[in-house]
Amino acid sequence: METTAWTQLHSVMNAEQERRPLARATLRRIGAFARPHRARITRFVVLGVLTALLAVATPVLAGLVVDAIVTGGDAGNVVCLALLIALIAVVEAVLGVLGRRLSAALGEGLILDLRTAVFDHVQRMPVAFFTRTRTGALVSRLNNDVIGAQRAFSNTLSGVVSNLVTLVLTLAVMLTLSWQITLLALVLLPVFVIPARHMGSRMARMQREAATLNAAMGTRMTERFSAPGATLVKLFGRPEQESEEFAARARRVAEIGVRTATAQSVFITALTLVSALALALVYGLGGWFALRGTLKPGDVVALALLLTRMYAPLTALAGARVEVMSALVSFERVFEVLDLKPLIAEKPDAKKVPDGPVAVEFDDVRFGYPAADKVSLASLEEVAALDTRGGDEVLHGISFRAEPGQTIALVGSSGAGKSTVAGLLPRLYDVDEGAVRVGGVDVRDLSAESLRGTVGMVTQDGHLFHDTVGANLLLARPTATEEELWDALRRSRLDDLVRSLPDGLDTVVGERGYRLSGGERQRMTIARLLLARQRVVILDEATAHLDNTSEAAVQGALTEALAGRTAVVIAHRLSTVRSADLILVVEAGRIVERGTHDELLAADGRYAELYRTQFEGRESTPQDHTKNDSIIASLGFAS
Ligand code: ADP
Repeated sequence: METTAWTQLHSVMNAEQERRPLARATLRRIGAFARPHRARITRFVVLGVLTALLAVATPVLAGLVVDAIVTGGDAGNVVCLALLIALIAVVEAVLGVLGRRLSAALGEGLILDLRTAVFDHVQRMPVAFFTRTRTGALVSRLNNDVIGAQRAFSNTLSGVVSNLVTLVLTLAVMLTLSWQITLLALVLLPVFVIPARHMGSRMARMQREAATLNAAMGTRMTERFSAPGATLVKLFGRPEQESEEFAARARRVAEIGVRTATAQSVFITALTLVSALALALVYGLGGWFALRGTLKPGDVVALALLLTRMYAPLTALAGARVEVMSALVSFERVFEVLDLKPLIAEKPDAKKVPDGPVAVEFDDVRFGYPAADKVSLASLEEVAALDTRGGDEVLHGISFRAEPGQTIALVGSSGAGKSTVAGLLPRLYDVDEGAVRVGGVDVRDLSAESLRGTVGMVTQDGHLFHDTVGANLLLARPTATEEELWDALRRSRLDDLVRSLPDGLDTVVGERGYRLSGGERQRMTIARLLLARQRVVILDEATAHLDNTSEAAVQGALTEALAGRTAVVIAHRLSTVRSADLILVVEAGRIVERGTHDELLAADGRYAELYRTQFEGRESTPQDHTKNDSIIASLGFAS
């Protein structure tokens, strides 16, 4: 009885929106998720009915034993009844285990379906979604809400079915035994249920507060305890104040914990007390009836036993509505994520990039970043409402063409739109007008797989998963042999480094690849590119200063990576711009100049101006490149 009461209180506390109208659409969708489990659900319901029948049988049999004793009946009869009771107990035990197994299988099966569906869906979301969403909120959606949905689903299902059957049967039997006693025993019930409801909603409020506080603490910790976050706190943070804020929240959670525990114990004690009082009533009134001869002694015993078995389903059912509501809320929160439409979808008849060297073409491309409400959910961004304003246009008619094997350098001041141009090529976003073509095919007509296999990206901050060097490389080509891995490492000038690591290819590189230097991380992404053998490279050159050895190594690796490939480079180095087949000067989302280094210098326009302001009186020689490059980078020539 206590566990059921406990479940009930718990569900009252978990009910987020008690007064919400039942959402039919949500119910239908839950039905769709439950459909594959139909056979299990049927078995479960049948089991519930059987268990309920057995639960009522034992008290009735016990009553018969007492009657047989009182009336001085047959000893064999009594033994038979006792054996029957024993048999029922055994069957009940077996059914109990089976039922638990079934409900677990149901619940876990549902979790599995929901979780894989959400994971699969989220993976397809555009980058815009991830730039807006708070990772913590998303992970919580995958974990807490999916589990909430499962728990409420299996609890509600098992609860409602077996409790309803048990209650109806118990009441029916009790009423036939003595309707007066049954009614009187029921009168005590509101004494317990009404305060429990009141307390339940108060507890729910506190529990919600605790959940919010816990989530806030969690977000704070994930943010502050990442290497960059921790560094920022060390440099600028006020650790005492941070600790104090954290402690204040933690204290409130602790306080809520104590209050909740106390309230729970009061609740369970009250419940035990009420059922004990009702029991006293049954004994008193029943005994009185029995003495007057209007009730058999066995019936009094049966009534008492039935009563103890009735309170649990009754209280559980009182909370069932709330439980259904909380299940719906969890389901809705999961469905909300599933309903987000991926902005970038593959066409059913998606094409492949033609074989051979590929050209890259931007044809009068106009683009603005999508409005928040198109790509995200307010609850995942942890804001009250999403911005519905469309983003301003960032690119205003960009046209250029890179012939197969050519290198195009993008230069221009920060915020000009260079990264945005680069992001359109692998279809991180789709253009609003115009077209981006790879190998003559609009990227929107290409299959995601073919585009991935064709366009590679080397970013400044080569992201590494917290995994081994080998695993990080295999991401690019899962079928690569160890030999091929070493070949890629050699060509990206990383082989000596990896050989010197304690476990070679099996060395785990820390979260964000923090144990590798910036230059090394960038070379890892180059190694990936070499493995994936992508024919088009987008390269975001590092603005950070690398030491000379690193610089030379990165340059060597890049030469290897760009050889024979069509490349779009966000250039920060003079050597890159000098050797580019075409330089595009981007300003405020437009290409304001185009040509080679020499042509642009001769034209004496924006490029020449940029160049002169950095290099006045310091005409560079080939040997000076490294030095000049870092000067360029430090002055933000093309940052
Ligand atoms: P660059 O690479 O030349 O420094 P970007 O392409 O990063 O410039 O930025 C071009 C413009 O687009 C800037 O005004 C910037 O604020 C805006 N922008 C960049 N990324 C986003 C984003 N994810 N959402 C909205 N606006 C963005």
